[in-house]
Amino acid sequence: MSTTTTVLDEQTLLARVQAPEGEGREILDAATREVIGRVPVQSADDLDAAVARAKAAQPGWEALGHEERSRLLVAAADAIDANAEPLARLLSREQGKPLNGPNARFEVGACSAWLRANAATVLEPQVLVDDENLHAELIYKAAGVVGAISPWNWPLMISIWQIGPALRMGNTAVLKPSSNTPLSVLALTSVINDVLPADVLVPVTGPGAIGGRLAGHPDIAKVMFTGSTETGRKIIEASAGNLARLTLELGGNDAAIVLPGTDAKAIAQDLFWGAFINTGQTCAAMKRLYVHDSVYDDVVAALAEIAEQTPMGPGLDEQNVLGPVQNKDQFDIVSHLVDDAVAHGGRVVTGGEAAPELGELFYRATIVADVTDGIALVDEEQFGPVLPVIRYTDLDDAFARANAAEVGLGASVWSSDPAEAAAHATRMQSGTVWVNSHGGLHPMVPFGGVKGSGYGLEFGVEGLKAVAVPQVVSTPGRKA
Ligand code: NAD
Repeated sequence: MSTTTTVLDEQTLLARVQAPEGEGREILDAATREVIGRVPVQSADDLDAAVARAKAAQPGWEALGHEERSRLLVAAADAIDANAEPLARLLSREQGKPLNGPNARFEVGACSAWLRANAATVLEPQVLVDDENLHAELIYKAAGVVGAISPWNWPLMISIWQIGPALRMGNTAVLKPSSNTPLSVLALTSVINDVLPADVLVPVTGPGAIGGRLAGHPDIAKVMFTGSTETGRKIIEASAGNLARLTLELGGNDAAIVLPGTDAKAIAQDLFWGAFINTGQTCAAMKRLYVHDSVYDDVVAALAEIAEQTPMGPGLDEQNVLGPVQNKDQFDIVSHLVDDAVAHGGRVVTGGEAAPELGELFYRATIVADVTDGIALVDEEQFGPVLPVIRYTDLDDAFARANAAEVGLGASVWSSDPAEAAAHATRMQSGTVWVNSHGGLHPMVPFGGVKGSGYGLEFGVEGLKAVAVPQVVSTPGRKA
């Protein structure tokens, strides 16, 4: 097979993945609401055919061995790098995220970086017992066909998080992107498939029902799912029949706590981006900020100033770093949560309204002060450019409120004294807790949620284990 990198322009890339003229479903530019193209609408039969192809390809892919598969994953990363700009532009139009800032170009770069890390990571056999009577080792083998179901907020990067480790371990994969962002994911898989053997990675587009069929398909051994907690529950039900192993990266409502006496100006930029990365549409973004009374007003003022100064607008304009909400349903959720917070006494410090002059789905970066737990904006995931800031006086009470959520993906503790913040960090009930930052991820550092945010770890060695099946090999010990 060829590993020569093909370089495509945006139109050629789009033409490769679009439905034939007159067929498929329209996909709109999230910023301008113009038609970008048409995505093929696939059926249950198409899904079954995709799984069958991936199943047939799996033994050959596994037989290539770790070294060759890693080489091909590096070639896939090279292909992504060579096509980074057209991928980022298509992603920007379809998802809405600007090219610049921690957005489209950043996301495409992360796809390549994660694939390279997957290729370089080695999952060694673990010697469990080695004595006179027994030598026992734990090894990990390919599970078979992995079903990957990804969301619309970081559609390329999260798809790679799911399929990269799966392919690395010798599985083949069927990938179903969100029906909000299918074209950019199809473009990504098209670029990758230029260097992978046929049917090792098979994309299938369609609504949630196609995802449900994938999760419950008898030939699927493992499901990598990222999306809402509600859909996560349906995946669990769908997997009752095939007993597929599951990694569930679900919704979050990440809390951050700013300790007494913290210098507001010193942390304001990082606080802002911890919440507003990808215009707030990030699973592990800060979604509730608890600030001690001693610095509350300073933190609120500093955040509002940054919110007002940060350029928002169509993603293809190079100066913008905040974009639209990706879709109308989410836009309505965001608007409703802010209106409801105001109705409950919340004070809009900045924003608090749509920005129609920018486009239909733009909502101004919004800071809402003087709110507390018990209102929807604090208790539920807003998934948009809005941050509620909650005043506290008693630190134990702040941790109790932060931990009262039914979800636990990320969390953070902030202080001018990082050692003091670190001393409190593990009080948070979350899969990850950051000190003086929020949301940063690394391909070698495991990531996953607790409580309603799901279970299973992605990234690093733990991430490879999660897409494999363990096998214990017991042999006679040294005496034999
Ligand atoms: P979603 O649950 O609506 O959709 C996710 C994917 O599941 C899509 O591909 C969708 O088509 C598919 N799907 C829908 N119904 C299905 C079903 N019954 N069976 C199988 N698949 C089905 O989520 P979304 O709106 O795309 O994404 C936003 C949510 O995802 C937020 O709650 C966010 O916090 C969460 N999220 C979590 C992480 C994480 O790593 N924990 C990362 C990103 C997003």
